[in-house]
Amino acid sequence: MPSNGALAYEVFIADPIPLSVPELVPNGDRRTFSPLSVTLIYGERDAVLVDPPMTSAQAEAVGEWIDASGRNLTHIFATHGHGDHWFTAGVLSERFGAQVVATTGTIRQMHHNVSIRAGFWDKFLPGQIPDTPVTAVTVPDNRFTLEDHDLVIIEAGHSDTDDTSVLHVPDLDLVVAGDVIYNGVHQFLVEAGQGGLDAWRRAIGIVEDLKPRRIVAGHKNKGLDDDATRSIHETRQYLDTAAELLLQHDSALGFFNAMLQRFPERLNPGALWGGAVALYS
Ligand SMILES: [Zn+2]
Repeated sequence: MPSNGALAYEVFIADPIPLSVPELVPNGDRRTFSPLSVTLIYGERDAVLVDPPMTSAQAEAVGEWIDASGRNLTHIFATHGHGDHWFTAGVLSERFGAQVVATTGTIRQMHHNVSIRAGFWDKFLPGQIPDTPVTAVTVPDNRFTLEDHDLVIIEAGHSDTDDTSVLHVPDLDLVVAGDVIYNGVHQFLVEAGQGGLDAWRRAIGIVEDLKPRRIVAGHKNKGLDDDATRSIHETRQYLDTAAELLLQHDSALGFFNAMLQRFPERLNPGALWGGAVALYS
């Protein structure tokens, strides 16, 4: 509990939900979404939510969690345009009267994700995603405040998609990293072709330069802590290994099996399979 004007944070993990994909993953798994991390940064009275989840049911659960915090929600920040990080921003901003904040690049990607919603997101999760108006606004100098503490938006470029950003909270030594940093979950490699891996490595360097002690990864295994050094190292190691194994294997299945052998503990091999298929298509 913060006192004397200090901040604190908590993470709500939306557990994996099944996707409407009939084909199994080669290891026999059903296709599911990865767990989603939703972060509440709060002071004595007010709170800021980072990365609202994707489905109506998840928004309901997150809404109750915010209610239980007893704080007044002032802002909702989305780190990037993938729907799993903001599709319920409209629902939650209406419920709490909070302002939705994002970078210009994220807002551009939000519009893009709305444009592909019917052919992509709704196919995986039919009937589960609410209306997705793009209501986000930018803030001057990419900064806003929570009870006089600075919250700084840092643009990180391409990581697991284009135009990604992170939220730096200097007074907590915290970075809420969206998909720049993963923690115990297979990384989304679908958009990693054509220099994407190198761009992602640069994005990781941008987070590392902020010297956080703790990082909330957008997709984390809830059994793991938020140690920054470990999650930075592991995110980088996953990309280095992917680059190495892409050169060694000439099929999606060979790459998938080799990655799985190197990273047996990571959650959601189905996400790896989706990336493997895209990279070898
Ligand atoms: Zn994501």
